[in-house]
This record gives sequence, structure tokens and C-alpha cells, in this order.
Amino acid sequence: MSVGGRRIVGLMRLLVVEDETDLAEALAKGLRRDGYAVDVASDGAAAIDRLSLNTYDLVCLDLNLPDMDGLDVCRRLRTDPMLRPADDEPAPRVLMLTARGSLSDRVAGLDEGADDYLAKPFAFEELQARVRTLLRRDASRQGAVLEVGDLVMDTARFVATRDGHPIDLTAKEFALLRYFMSHPDEVMSQERLLEHVWDENTDPFTNTVRVTIGTLRRKLDQAVADEASDQLIETVVGAGYRLRSTGT
Ligand code: CA
Repeated sequence: MSVGGRRIVGLMRLLVVEDETDLAEALAKGLRRDGYAVDVASDGAAAIDRLSLNTYDLVCLDLNLPDMDGLDVCRRLRTDPMLRPADDEPAPRVLMLTARGSLSDRVAGLDEGADDYLAKPFAFEELQARVRTLLRRDASRQGAVLEVGDLVMDTARFVATRDGHPIDLTAKEFALLRYFMSHPDEVMSQERLLEHVWDENTDPFTNTVRVTIGTLRRKLDQAVADEASDQLIETVVGAGYRLRSTGT
């Protein structure tokens, strides 16, 4: 979607494709801590299944998968019409993970449409840096500053302010506010928020949405002390929540 002719970004959703369970879980856990929604696929078929169902901003793709070569997954992703994102969505970035460190594999990966390449073993900080760089490339292309009323968010720098006052947010609160700011005045059901801001591992009966909205509301109010009497994020009874674009 676009606001004021500028493309804006919602939450970043990542897919980790890795058959080494411990590594996959460690990556998913670390990336979730950074505020991304992360799904995990443990083989090529599961990856293609996920890619056909969901739109991802970035795929961390292991080259050596039990059922197929990561390069084939990458090729499918770039050429299979079933896996293409909708017209207004950018194609996912692909970060190839591989134990093979040779130059020829690297070149082959990039030829198949990978955007970057990381040789195992790697430090998590290195992966974080690559992911950030790849996503920032998109953010700068799309315009990463969101403005709704007196709220301003710089999605690339992870900074949010209200009426010029910084708001100290956790990664999840930031992701939630980013999603609201990408869809001002739209009523969001709990299911929709769970789908876009959380990930597939989240229990659909959890109260995490309600709890996170509660802490986010409090922080939005605290940012402007007691001047704000109205809540920016309204509860729409029986329907969900809405971020008002106009107000106090
Ligand atoms: Ca592997």
C-alpha cells in the first residue's frame, strides 16, 4: 500500500530454511528477539509450501537441504508464478547459508537469484548485520519513515516519536506500532495482528495481542505525559483495534 504516494513497510517477515534443528531454532529465536516475525522450514518442500502461502521480506536459505538443493528452492522462488508475491509486493531477499565456502558455489547462488551469501560457521551478529543490510536496501527503496498524526517512525533506525518525544518500545511493540501505522484507521482483528505481527508458532488463543496493545497504549500516552486524554489505539468492540490518524 502507499500513503502520500510513498510506499511504506509493515512488519518484516522472515523465513528460515534450515534442516539443522538446533541452528534453525537459534536463528529463529535471535531474529524474533530483533522484532521480526519468523517462520521455519526444515526442508525444501516445506520451504516452497511456506513461500506459496505467505509473503516474506527475506529468506535465510540453507544450501544443503535433505530433499533438494537450496539453489533449486531459490530458482523456484524466482521463476515459479505460484511463488511470486502480489504485484505491489517486492520479491523477498534471499540470504544463502552454506557450509560450502568455495567461490563457485557463491557465484552459482548469486546466479540463481540469491542476494547475499554467508558461509557456515558464522556468528549470529554477522547474520544480523546481513539481514539488516538487505532489508534496509528495501526500506530505502520504499521510504521508511511513517507518519500518522503526531506519530513518526523511522523503520530503518528503529526510532519512534510522538509529538517529538521518543517512545521507548520493545521490538514487539515496535513491530505492532509499525503495522498499525502502515494501516491507519483500519480496524485490525486480533487474528490479523497475530498473522502479520507474530508468527506461525504463536498460540492463536494467546492473550499476547491484548497485553502488547496495553503496554503500547501506555507508552504512547506517557510520551506526551497527561496531555493525551484520548487513546490513539481504539478498541472496536467485537472487531478489533484501530489506530486513529486524527485526534488530539
Ligand atoms: Ca543443511
